[in-house]
This record gives sequence, structure tokens and C-alpha cells, in this order.
Amino acid sequence: MELLKERILREASILNQDVLKLDALLNHQVDPLLTQEMGKEFARLYAETPITKVITVESSGIPVAYATALVLGVPLVFARRKKTLIADPDAYCERVPSFTKGIVTDIMVSRQFLSADDTVLFIDDIIANGDAARGLIKIIERSGATLAGLGIVVEKSFQSGARTIREQGIRVESLAKIASLDGGKIRFE
Ligand code: 5GP
Repeated sequence: MELLKERILREASILNQDVLKLDALLNHQVDPLLTQEMGKEFARLYAETPITKVITVESSGIPVAYATALVLGVPLVFARRKKTLIADPDAYCERVPSFTKGIVTDIMVSRQFLSADDTVLFIDDIIANGDAARGLIKIIERSGATLAGLGIVVEKSFQSGARTIREQGIRVESLAKIASLDGGKIRFE
């Protein structure tokens, strides 16, 4: 998505060769019009699939997932991050390491909002090693729901997350693919 790439070049900053700061677009501030365009693009990419729900992980995935759900006319479910893992029989839970925070968090989705009748489109902000995505994919599998695929705003393709998920036979669509951050420069694929 050219508009997104232009905005990344203008507004992102490079923290180190692995991490891009995207606070101005995704992780702290949100541009509603740009986010709406992203939602339209994901809806277009998955137009042939009968999606019943959009799903994401709180919190930075929520705006773009909402924009996508609005265009598709379906509900949005966001996995919640929990501080304690008191076994909850009414929820699917997975433990995921956090790429940026260096801690482990537990994500959960209530059984009430995900079932074998659903075909879900999983939207997220950034994919790096894919741990967060794998956690939610496990939850989707355990619920019996069908995973239509993933829609990722920024794929850092020099890290292995999206590749290993595609190798599992899961469709992954990314709006911007970053091949490298070496030398303090953003290089798109
Ligand atoms: P993963 O689980 O794929 O390794 O990391 C995914 C999550 O970590 C994303 O949802 C995002 O919140 C955070 N993350 C990973 N890499 C970056 C990065 O380069 N910049 C920012 N801002 N967040 C990142």
C-alpha cells in the first residue's frame, strides 16, 4: 500500500536494526483516515472469503481491525491481555512472549465470542518473530473456528514470523513489507 509506505518513510523512526518506532501511526497515535484506508484494503484482499468475525490482540491491532470489521460488516473480537492466569473455563488462553517488552503475557478470548461456526480474519499491527500471532492462531484452532488468514499492517520480513506462518499454509497479507532497517534506513521489499 503506497500511501502507507510514504507515511512510514515520513513518520517512523528506527530504534535499532530490528525495531521500528511506529508511535505516530500505529502504537500511540492513530490517523483515522489512513486507518480507514487500511481497513478497506484488507476487506478488498479478503473479499472472496465469507468472514464472520475480525479478530485481533489488544491494543495496537484494534483500530485497524475495527476499520476492517466496519467495511466487512462483521463484529470485531479482540483478545485481551491478562495479568494473571487464573484458569478460566470459559476462555481460551495462551501465553505469549512480547517482542518489545521482553516479558511474557497471557492472551485470552472468551468462548462466548469464538466458535466453530466462525470464519475469522486475524488483523494485527506488526509482525516480527510471530509469537503473538502464533498464540492467537492456537486459540482460533482450539475454538474450531476457520482462519481465513492474517492481515498485517507492517511485516518485518527480515524476521521469521510471517514466513513460518505462511509455511504452515496460512494466508498472510501485509500492507508494507520491510526487508531491512540496516544502516538506519528503511528498505521495503
Ligand atoms: P512478534 O510476536 O511477531 O515477535 O511481535 C509482534 C508484536 O510486537 C507486535 O504486535 C508489536 O506490538 C510488537 N513489535 C514487534 N516488532 C516491533 C517493531 O519493530 N516496532 C514496534 N513498534 N512494535 C513491534
